[in-house]
Amino acid sequence: MGVAMERRAFLRGRRRLPQPLRPPGACAEAVFVARCDRCDGCIRACPERILRRGGGGFPEIDFTRGGCTFCGRCVTACARGALAPWGRGRPWMLEARLDAACLALQGIGCMSCLDACPREAIALRPLCGRLAPQVDAARCDGCGACVRPCPVGAIRMVRREDAARGAA
Ligand code: SF4
Ligand code: SF4
Ligand code: SF4
Repeated sequence: MGVAMERRAFLRGRRRLPQPLRPPGACAEAVFVARCDRCDGCIRACPERILRRGGGGFPEIDFTRGGCTFCGRCVTACARGALAPWGRGRPWMLEARLDAACLALQGIGCMSCLDACPREAIALRPLCGRLAPQVDAARCDGCGACVRPCPVGAIRMVRREDAARGAA
């Protein structure tokens, strides 16, 4: 679906566009944008430099710059409660998705994402007569560390709820 058609569907309420990927611990989107005053505090606090100003000046996470270590500095920096500590739970429901550009699917040896994953959530499994990397959603914590090392940009992070309703 093209952008114009997607927007028309969005306006008709048939399909919602994927929401931006916010920093870890972000409140529900409506609460987040109400609380965040776009001070850039979280962006400055991130030692991995993976946060940037996105649409409307609100912070977004850019996994092409690197993965999140869940250090929590962005949360500490937020004085408005737009980001909240996640305790022992998960800060977000993101997971890695691999697409058809993956070199391994074309028979070219590459295991960069497997090597990069700190949770061993990516493994080679048989797919269409080849061994291809596949993500174990139960192990993936959405850190995004696999995105940047992929030489062909075949990995992106998606929100599970967007994926479940076909919007990712
Ligand atoms: S938890 Fe740490 S690494 Fe992750 S976005 Fe926040 S400041 Fe950056
Ligand atoms: S790093 Fe990219 S190209 Fe390499 S195996 Fe992983 S998804 Fe495929
Ligand atoms: S997002 Fe993190 S945990 Fe998930 S597959 Fe990629 S590197 Fe592994």
